[in-house]
Amino acid sequence: MTKLLVITENRDGELRNVSFEAVAAAKKMNEAAEVVGVVLGSGNLEKLGNEIIRFGADRAITVSHEKLEDYTSEGYGQAVLAVIEDESPDGIVMGHTSIGKDLTPKLAAKLDSGLISDVVDISDEDGQPAFTRPIYSGKAFEKKVIAEGSTLVTIRPNNIKPLEEDESRNGEVISKDVDIADARTIIKDVIRKASEGVDLSEANVVIAGGRGVKSEEGFRPLYELAEVLGAAVGASRGACDAEYCDYALQIGQTGKVVTPDLYIAVGISGAIQHLAGMSNSKVIVAINKDPEANIFNVADYGIVGDLFEVVPKLTEELRQLKV
Ligand code: FAD
Repeated sequence: MTKLLVITENRDGELRNVSFEAVAAAKKMNEAAEVVGVVLGSGNLEKLGNEIIRFGADRAITVSHEKLEDYTSEGYGQAVLAVIEDESPDGIVMGHTSIGKDLTPKLAAKLDSGLISDVVDISDEDGQPAFTRPIYSGKAFEKKVIAEGSTLVTIRPNNIKPLEEDESRNGEVISKDVDIADARTIIKDVIRKASEGVDLSEANVVIAGGRGVKSEEGFRPLYELAEVLGAAVGASRGACDAEYCDYALQIGQTGKVVTPDLYIAVGISGAIQHLAGMSNSKVIVAINKDPEANIFNVADYGIVGDLFEVVPKLTEELRQLKV
C-alpha cells in the first residue's frame, strides 16, 4: 500500500491550516494511500495527532522533544529523518511555508529524492498524480509528474481545500522518541514581527498597502478596514523600503506569496515583482488614484480615488452592514 507522510506545522498549540490542506493534497495524490500525519513539537502532542486524523490522516506520529519547541533545520531535520527511516514512505507532503521551504530541500538532498515545490493543484494524469505549480513569477503554470521513486511535495497555502473535519474519525496516535544531537544553532528568542492578528500567508482576506499610504500612520485606515473584514494586513516592498511597515508584511517575489479569496491593493502601483506574490488571489480589488496604474490590469474591481477618502468610507459602509 502506498504510504504518504504529511509533515504538519503547529503554532501556539494549534495546527496550522496548511497542515489540513497537506492531508487533502496527499489524498489527491493517491486516494487509496495510507496518510500518516507527523506532529513535531514539545510537550503533549496527542491532541494535535487526533486532530490531523479528524481531518483525514489515517494515523499520526508525534515527536516531542524540548529541542523541537521552536523550529530549527537541524532539530526538525533529525526528527523527520528518524520518522522517515521507520516508515519508509513513498512520498512526503508539507506546506510551502517558511519552514517547508527551509526543510524540504535539505530532506530531498539527504534522501536523494525529487522535490516539487509550491504546488497549487494536483490532478490525475493517466492514474498518476500531476502537480501544477506557478513559474515565471506566476505568469505561467507548469504541470509535473514524478518519473520514478519517492518525492517531496510542498503545497502553497490556501490553494488545496482541506477535507471536512470528521469528528467520528479516529486512528492510532503513536509517540516516537527521537535522539536529537546538539544543534549548531540555538533559538534564544522568538520575536514576532508580523501583525498580531490573522496570519498573512493563510488569510482569506488580505489588505495590502503600498507607497501610496505615505507614512506609518497612513497604514491605520488599512488596519481599521482589516479589523472589520477579519483580514490580514500586507504591504508592497515600496512601503517596506520607505519604512512605513515591517518587512514581515512584504508580499511579492522577494516577500510572501499569498492566495486569499479577496486581495485589496491600496496605493500599490502593481510592479511585476509585487504581482508575483498576489496575482493568483481569487478576487483582486485595487484602490489607486492613478487610473493608468498597472494594478488595474490584474484587478477584478478597481476604484480610482484617494485611498484616504475611499478606505474609511469602505470601512464605514462595511461596519453598517455588519450591525
Ligand atoms: P509605487 O510604485 O511608488 O506606487 C505607489 C502607488 O500609490 C502609485 O500607483 C500611486 O498612484 C498610488 N498612490 C499614491 N498616493 C495615493 C493616494 N493618496 N491614493 C491612492 N493611490 C495613491 N515589490 C514588491 O511589492 N514585492 C516584492 O517582493 C518585490 N521584490 C522585488 C525584487 C527585485 C529584485 C526588485 C528589483 C524589485 C522588487 N520589488 C518588489 C519592488 C517593485 O519593483 C516596486 O518598486 C514596488 O512594488 C513598488 O511599490 P509600490 O507599488 O508600493 O510603490
